[in-house]
Amino acid sequence: MITQINHIGIAVQALDDHIPFYRDVLGLEFSGTEEVEDQKVRVAMFKAGEVQIELLEPTSEDSPIAKYLQKKGEGMHHIAYETNDIQGDIDNFREQQIRMIDELPREGAHNTKIAFIHPKSSGKVLTEICQKGEAANE
Ligand code: ZN
Repeated sequence: MITQINHIGIAVQALDDHIPFYRDVLGLEFSGTEEVEDQKVRVAMFKAGEVQIELLEPTSEDSPIAKYLQKKGEGMHHIAYETNDIQGDIDNFREQQIRMIDELPREGAHNTKIAFIHPKSSGKVLTEICQKGEAANE
């Protein structure tokens, strides 16, 4: 079940060019950077209340984020909803004929499990669902 928005993903060419805006201008709490090898990105996370802002920088030419930047340039990339049962939600979405990019959860940043819904099924808004690590290993 979806419980809240967890984070908003923003695609950038270089984290260092954008960290000052979120940290110093908006004054958000900076949680640091992390590399997610599976997705070939480096992410920087900021806290805005319960919701996080996730900046995504590609670490390789064949990263999905590198391809996104080539096609669309920098900007809003995805919205991520938090769930307490990621596999249950995936199964539920599929029953409703929703197209999934990921039919099985995969590793996200900060010890989360994540899955993306295909934009064709979500009004062109790339939509992620994510579950925090501790509950994922039940
Ligand atoms: Zn994300």
